[in-house]
Amino acid sequence: QAKREAPYLAALNPEQREAVETLDGPVLVLAGAGTGKTRVLTTRIAHILNLGRAHPSQILAVTFTNKAAREMKERVGHMVGEIVEGMPWLGTFHAIGVKILRRHAEMIGLKSDFTILGVDDQIRLIKQLIEAEKLDEKRWPARVFAQIVDGWKNRGLTPEQVPGGEAASFANGKGKKLYAAYQERLKTLNAADFGDLLLECIRLFKEHPDVLKQYQSRFRFILVDEYQDTNVAQYLWLRLLAQMPTTAAPSGGLVLRDASPNSSTGRAERGPYGDAPQDEGKGAANDAFDPHPEEARSAVSKEEAQGVSLEDTWGEPEALDSGSSPSVAAPGMTDRKNICCVGDDDQSIYGWRGAEVDNILRFDHDFPGAKVIRLERNYRSTGHILAAASTLIAHNEGRLGKTLHTEDVDGEKVEVTGAWDSEEEARAIGEEIEQMQRAARDEGADHPLDEIAILVRASFQMREFEERFIQLGLPYRVIGGPRFYERAEIRDALAYLRVIAQPADDLAFERIVNTPKRGLGDAALQMLHDYARKQRIPLTEAAAIMSSTDEMKPKPRNALRGLMESFARWRKQKDTLPHTELAEIVLDESGYTEMWQKDRSADAAGRLENLKELVRSMEEFENLAGFLEHISLVMDTAEGDSEQKVSIMTLHSAKGLEFDTVFLPGWEEGLFPHQRSLDEQGKAGLEEERRLAHVGLTRARKRARIYFATNRRVHGMWQSNIPSRFLDELPAQHVEVKEAAGGTGGFGMSGYGPSRFDEAGAFGSKYTTPGWQRAQGRRGAGGFSENGQPRYVPDGVFNQDEDYGDDVAPPRS
Ligand code: ATP
Ligand code: MG
Repeated sequence: QAKREAPYLAALNPEQREAVETLDGPVLVLAGAGTGKTRVLTTRIAHILNLGRAHPSQILAVTFTNKAAREMKERVGHMVGEIVEGMPWLGTFHAIGVKILRRHAEMIGLKSDFTILGVDDQIRLIKQLIEAEKLDEKRWPARVFAQIVDGWKNRGLTPEQVPGGEAASFANGKGKKLYAAYQERLKTLNAADFGDLLLECIRLFKEHPDVLKQYQSRFRFILVDEYQDTNVAQYLWLRLLAQMPTTAAPSGGLVLRDASPNSSTGRAERGPYGDAPQDEGKGAANDAFDPHPEEARSAVSKEEAQGVSLEDTWGEPEALDSGSSPSVAAPGMTDRKNICCVGDDDQSIYGWRGAEVDNILRFDHDFPGAKVIRLERNYRSTGHILAAASTLIAHNEGRLGKTLHTEDVDGEKVEVTGAWDSEEEARAIGEEIEQMQRAARDEGADHPLDEIAILVRASFQMREFEERFIQLGLPYRVIGGPRFYERAEIRDALAYLRVIAQPADDLAFERIVNTPKRGLGDAALQMLHDYARKQRIPLTEAAAIMSSTDEMKPKPRNALRGLMESFARWRKQKDTLPHTELAEIVLDESGYTEMWQKDRSADAAGRLENLKELVRSMEEFENLAGFLEHISLVMDTAEGDSEQKVSIMTLHSAKGLEFDTVFLPGWEEGLFPHQRSLDEQGKAGLEEERRLAHVGLTRARKRARIYFATNRRVHGMWQSNIPSRFLDELPAQHVEVKEAAGGTGGFGMSGYGPSRFDEAGAFGSKYTTPGWQRAQGRRGAGGFSENGQPRYVPDGVFNQDEDYGDDVAPPRS
């Protein structure tokens, strides 16, 4: 084997090579962005297979997303051929968890065809339990509790293990009982939620050491990407599997919480992040703010979700399946587990969702004698980009610290452009992309739009780009979330407007007739339907008639009458009021806004934010009809998949990816760093925001372009913003300050300009530029606190819940 060196090894630098070739014992690759960590993992798999050190089915490889799993499989395939097809255990934590659970379902009280509940079902179920407890669901919303349960599950806590104090905060101390009841209900229904896919696996392993042992001896090699973002449950799960089968199997006495002392003090406990990590992306049903709905869906394949027999998943020589003793181990195998984790503490961005960066710091302790390998050469980005990213992240205190260098050219400086407002920001970016396209075309090549990404901090920022790109006819895709007009709350709001404009729009009417709940139950709706069908009239007409006859019970009848009267009133107002005002009135009077205001779930505020954004987007149209027509066109932009497209996504979902050109809009105080991170977590929050900025910059190969807008309309009100402190932290010599095209640029108007570099070379410490103060005076917002720090005034303006909900990794796992 030494003689003929595999070509894939030659493509590595010495440190990477060491990480690939150190097959025995634990290995931790702790290295910065773009240093080839993922490449190391991929090559390592190829190497293991090539040397015949393990059967493909004896390798457990965990990736962050399904997309990453697919890519990894493909790349390994390039190196070693189709043998990779036999790798059933390459996937996300959840995908692998469900595979294991199906095989042993009976042992934990399920049948192997158990269903995996989407978030909607989960909430419905919890609602029943809350009602059964005679609790006021308005006060103790199911939605909120679903998130609390998710948080507990992320931390590996079964109902018995939930700390009393914490459980007491929900439903007058009934939290624990509800959680237990919920778990029991799931069993009765032969169902599991996403959190269970790991938690129940852990329980299975604990209660059935023989099963655990089977897997321990099966997985000769374990590989984990993005290790810095594993949460407690994932960590516990891994640790169980990574023990040598000879070690006494952990008894039921293993106390989960003890296994990770950090879990009791770490981020998982903090505020809403720990105990209510928003929608864990439980599948397609969660259409609100799921960053990777596609991932969520595919995390569990259709067959898996339906419980189709997975008997072939072991798929390899029988002998290995018999829970065989470790002595069957391949030659050369030592008594230490061959686990290889790669990660970067500077890219830990899921702390709010229960991830524990400390997991990576504990590696040495968990796997004694681990070889820690550092990679220092960045292969992704050009010099200026890397320097800017490194200087930025150096402002964080809580980090291990590392040096990075590139042998690439300096390339283009990081561009920082100020725009007057967010609309100009979108316009400028659209223009830049078109220019790049033109330039590429002149050179005889279509510029690959696939190589361009726009990475936003909060998903409400996406809409303006979507609008602009539709106008320009620029193909785009929104990754990790429904496009703006496809979000549930937007569709609801649009449904109201559609019924006003087109009373015969049955679909729209049906959507909102009982949203918010106004006591029109299934029976009443059925009557409406029957009547409408018989009379061949639209539902609204049927509703108008039935609201004044006595066929319906008084309660639904009155509710219906109220609604029909409202619609009649709104239709009149349509002709007299500006359409934006009408929209506000409708959302208000219908109780729709109030419904979300009262909703205590983490994503409610984000939905309200989106509703405001909707009203704001209407301003661009002359009247309601024009707006609705535009919407129907927008909704219709079908996606041809082969087409090249610009990607729009949140920073959170951009992890691990790379693009030639990366646009980073919205670098303003309050938005980025996000105000709520600062408010709720202080310095730790700021540092996580900075890591996010660092992740954003390091996605770029050749071009990184940052934008900030001096004015941004939020909640329908203009807000003057000051540039993000992160801009100050960029090294001047690697940054070029530009003015937005179009001439109305933020610099010109606000007094920012290239001269913003002070003598020390820091960018933009001139927050007090006259222009800005003028702007503040005019808008009456903002200002400085005593210590001279910029103060971001409006509270809750940028809704973090929204992007929190939305940035949540799905069964990213
Ligand atoms: P991140 O932290 O962002 O996930 P990473 O450390 O996983 O980054 P990779 O994505 O594996 O980095 O690699 C970054 C880029 O550098 C990829 O395009 C990869 O193909 C390339 N690369 C890595 N190692 C080498 C090498 N030895 N020679 C040439 N290119 C390399
Ligand atoms: Mg990677």
